[in-house]
Amino acid sequence: MKKLAFAAFGALLMIMLASCSPKTEKTVGNAPFFVNHHFDFVECDNVIYFVEEVGRASEQEGTTLLSYRFAALDIETCECMPLCFKPDCTHEGKDCGAYVSADGVRLTLYNGRLYWIEGGFRNPILYSMNTDGSDRKRETAVDAELYRLAYGMGTAEIFDGTLYVCGIAENVKEGDIVRSAVVFRQPLDKEKGEIIRYSEEHVRVFGRIMDGKLYFAESEEWPEEYDEEEGYDPLSTVLYSFDPVSGVLTELYSRTDPVTAFDQLAASEGKVYLFGYGHAAVFDVSDGSAEELSGTASSIDVGEDVLMYWDPAHVFTMRSSDGSVLYKGVFPSEDDPDIPAGIYARTFIGSVGAKMYYRVDLFGQDMHNRRFIVEFDAGARQVRRLYASADE
Ligand SMILES: [Zn+2]
Repeated sequence: MKKLAFAAFGALLMIMLASCSPKTEKTVGNAPFFVNHHFDFVECDNVIYFVEEVGRASEQEGTTLLSYRFAALDIETCECMPLCFKPDCTHEGKDCGAYVSADGVRLTLYNGRLYWIEGGFRNPILYSMNTDGSDRKRETAVDAELYRLAYGMGTAEIFDGTLYVCGIAENVKEGDIVRSAVVFRQPLDKEKGEIIRYSEEHVRVFGRIMDGKLYFAESEEWPEEYDEEEGYDPLSTVLYSFDPVSGVLTELYSRTDPVTAFDQLAASEGKVYLFGYGHAAVFDVSDGSAEELSGTASSIDVGEDVLMYWDPAHVFTMRSSDGSVLYKGVFPSEDDPDIPAGIYARTFIGSVGAKMYYRVDLFGQDMHNRRFIVEFDAGARQVRRLYASADE
């Protein structure tokens, strides 16, 4: 039995190793540590594909109308190009071939193509294109009745010809606002989907496909109210697996903790990682065991070969999986000419090897907001700015 499992795992590993090589472009899928449930970033072959904001809001000059476009960022050269095939295009506004109507479109990779959902909850449509921006087309209408329950923050992935959506939504029901966390699936050749899980008790839901199954977590949101005597209310997180073949939904793991709110999930090589604020945990699918990752910090992010601890907000420690310190630093450092002064919001977007990638939003002292993509490399022990939004 053990031998058989190992052989199957070996075959799977071969598929995973092949999945990101340029020679097998048709099988390109999501890197296991590169889909998060906040923003649209995916990675393959050292290129980050994302939804780029064009133009920016300025409080001094009034609000500039923002538009969005798909872009590809080369991690090695830092070259960033709109995914546009139109000749002589200025790459601005709706006429650009890379134009997309909004961010939060759940960008995902499947069979060597980029897929995303546009049209909001009223008219959600799944589109796709090649990773160079060519052959952009409408794939199918997403089941609007189900998407209405999941249009907010969440994840989407495609596996074996079926779209899996995890998401939250607010809807008015009999005069009250109901917050739902919903997981559903829809075959790409059908117009109707099927609910896998519906909850009104949790306000985040996010998942990943691994070894042909969907793993997803429901969690509560960090409470706004702090009680002097009781502290924060405990927050619960529940991890599920869903088998697409048998249709069986299984609760794998749950925990309740006053200072933990998980908001990210990664799944790779038989392990599911839950992380976010305060703690990080790893669940082993093969034996059902769960363990806390060593050390605590105000936030912990889990990468492919590296863990990132932030504590306090600007001090980072990159650790190997056994907990040993690889690289320690301050971000942004005060003398960094690339990163201007201001207030920052930092979101983990993914990891490849011992490198971790963050989206950093700067609310500048000059009242201008700017966005960066920053790489933290535990091997080279360096922080590199890969991308900065255009400066006017
Ligand atoms: Zn263009």
